Amino acid sequence: MSGPKNVVLIGGGLASLAAIETLRAEGYDGAIRLVSDEAEIPYDRPPLSKAYLSGETPLGGILLHDEAWYESMRVDLELGRKVEAIDPSARQVRIAGGQALGYDRVLIGTGARARELPVSVVAPEVPVHYIRTRADSDRLRESVKAGARVVLIGGGVIGMEAAATLVQLGCDVTVLEAGERIMARFFPPALSEMLAEVHAARGVKLHARVVIESVSRQGDESVVTLGDGTTLAADIVIVGIGSVPNAELAVDAGLELRYGGIMVDVRAQTAADGVYAAGDVATFQLPDGRWARWENWTHARLHGAHSARHMLGKGQTYAELPWVWSDQYDLNLQVLGSPESSDPPAIRGSLEAGRVTAFHLDGGRLVGATMINDARNKSSIRKLLERGDAVSPEQLVDPSVDLKKLAASA
Ligand code: ADP
Repeated sequence: MSGPKNVVLIGGGLASLAAIETLRAEGYDGAIRLVSDEAEIPYDRPPLSKAYLSGETPLGGILLHDEAWYESMRVDLELGRKVEAIDPSARQVRIAGGQALGYDRVLIGTGARARELPVSVVAPEVPVHYIRTRADSDRLRESVKAGARVVLIGGGVIGMEAAATLVQLGCDVTVLEAGERIMARFFPPALSEMLAEVHAARGVKLHARVVIESVSRQGDESVVTLGDGTTLAADIVIVGIGSVPNAELAVDAGLELRYGGIMVDVRAQTAADGVYAAGDVATFQLPDGRWARWENWTHARLHGAHSARHMLGKGQTYAELPWVWSDQYDLNLQVLGSPESSDPPAIRGSLEAGRVTAFHLDGGRLVGATMINDARNKSSIRKLLERGDAVSPEQLVDPSVDLKKLAASA
């Protein structure tokens, strides 16, 4: 069977990048075209709410590869161009303006966009910021100055990273979270509490369980009105309330979605032959048959690489663990495995002592861990997670128990 000769990658994010690296590393010699609606070569997104937003890291520091690399990989870059449609039966993608590109294999690596507050809450003329693209981060940075009153809507990863960055730039920062607590998608309550205390000590004001009634403009300031009638005046309003997969191309091509993402099989292939999807935009099947959609950096990279190997017929099983990290102040936050569990988390260490890990247990089995400045145990935790045996919470929390030894003892 002859292999593919013509691969098209849609979207200039990590999944596409990893696909390029893998295709070439695996000896694929045919054409690669990368079509991205962003105007610049692919860049890394995590710094957009951290060192790039603060100005510490310039654009050159966040590019995933320089231009020369694409040349050396023989990639045709089609930047600032939007794919309008995929036609699986004709094996073509159509680019805005009418050009059609044929493909043997196409990867949808279009990622996710910021979820927006509805227009009933924020009228279109009211300026609010989202942090998803370099252009978003640039625009925000231009309006940031010491003393600016910043209201951040959403106390998740983006919201709390931006809060840390902006309070350190001298802004007056308030975070409004709809849920009970911050970082709830990844943190157990005790760790959310610890992190909230760190933010408070730095001067971030935090309000949980709020309802955003409206964001309006009065003169040159914005006014955020809450459900209980409270109003907050702000120079800058930033919204970080999650994301929405950019899955429209697949829907229009008649492909199915699940959890908002494009359904792909264990090979990252959709129901249409030769059409693959990877990263944030894809809902994929785990080796045990369950479906999952993961939004994180490592997954985008690994799943993009996984899809490329399958394009070449060289694929393996995707047996990765979700792994998420964030940096806020001098804290490194990492989550390995599932943050959800039925048993109460087992907590080892404390922030006062400089490091803490919460182990997530489900029916006595370790399913995940959240670490604050404690990633040194990650490989032992990974081993324990992969083994999936019952572990005793007493051992996990006991600082005298060496996790390396525990992981090594079967
Ligand atoms: P992101 O990557 O955008 O930070 P997360 O899922 O990590 O996404 O966090 C989003 C946060 O926004 C969650 O804590 C969620 O409870 C909160 N949120 C969602 N909708 C609203 C809203 N309308 N007002 C305030 N907070 C919201």
